[in-house]
Amino acid sequence: MITRLNVHRQSADWQRALAQAVTDPEELFQRLALDPALLPAALKASEQFRVRVPLGYLGRMTPGDPNDPLLLQVLPLAEECLEIPGFQCDPVGDLESMPIPGLLHKYHGRVLLVTSGACAIHCRYCFRRHFPYRDASAIREAWPQILMYLRTHEEVREIILSGGDPLTLSDDKLAAMVSDLAGIPHLRTLRLHSRLPVVLPERIDDTLLGWLTGTRLRPIMVIHANHARELDGTTRAAMERLELAGVRLFNQTVLLRGINDDADALAMLNHALFDSGVQPYYLHMLDPVQGAAHFAVTEEHALTLMKQLSRQLPGYLIPRLVREVPGHDSKTQIAHSPHAVEGFSL
Ligand code: SF4
Repeated sequence: MITRLNVHRQSADWQRALAQAVTDPEELFQRLALDPALLPAALKASEQFRVRVPLGYLGRMTPGDPNDPLLLQVLPLAEECLEIPGFQCDPVGDLESMPIPGLLHKYHGRVLLVTSGACAIHCRYCFRRHFPYRDASAIREAWPQILMYLRTHEEVREIILSGGDPLTLSDDKLAAMVSDLAGIPHLRTLRLHSRLPVVLPERIDDTLLGWLTGTRLRPIMVIHANHARELDGTTRAAMERLELAGVRLFNQTVLLRGINDDADALAMLNHALFDSGVQPYYLHMLDPVQGAAHFAVTEEHALTLMKQLSRQLPGYLIPRLVREVPGHDSKTQIAHSPHAVEGFSL
């Protein structure tokens, strides 16, 4: 039974975990016994995009290993300060597709809302690391205008809550938002994109499940896991709670040099996702955002990885390799469907 006391305790648990995240590069170096010679560069890079790592996620890293695949996702490096041609502040044309601040309408039938600029973790490869959240958040003054836009666009069936990370918002705010959205008859699906089930699994509590599954909208959650080591007993328990409550779970991975650009790492990730009840969905080429060029993997290598994966995994565990091209009316698939990849087996 959910009591008021339980609700407060759960909410305090995840909010405490969120507040206790490491935000000081020096502390990150100390906790993980990293080479202090790299600290000045980390401090400089973190001036542009701050460090943020939840303690639970940090606890899955191996101290003293500068190549830990979880560490590399959050460690600021000197390379971030280089200006590389072709890498931009708005790599996927978000600002061009925003008829109202915080509302992105790129694809037929789906609308994305930038609900928050906050995240539980700061991923160094983030394609929205330069996004002007202050001027473009859907929950500020623009909310009545957004509801009006959705009411008059009857072709929209699916609403996507994104950010930042929507699950950094309070349950009260999210519940009110979902209740307004559920009042628009042609909306059918509520999709959340969140990294919190992976990096702060405490967030998946009874209160969250209450508003997420207590709506007439069909709930979907896309978690963003990039490496099998990100998934452990705590994240599995979070996914299980979501799955049991009726939330469909999908995963989107960013292909990242030095982190998961290897067939064995990707195969292990997709097995671990399946063990957690999560369906692999997209393997995303890096969006060319300024400061993240050192994570880029070539298309040629990505296609080789897809071939290797097709030999190692059943078809239902193979994500689609895609990239986002600004102005296109869907994601661009790079390989054909897994069924067309050589050696595919069910
Ligand atoms: S959680 Fe998502 S939005 Fe937030 S920094 Fe990471 S990639 Fe960017």
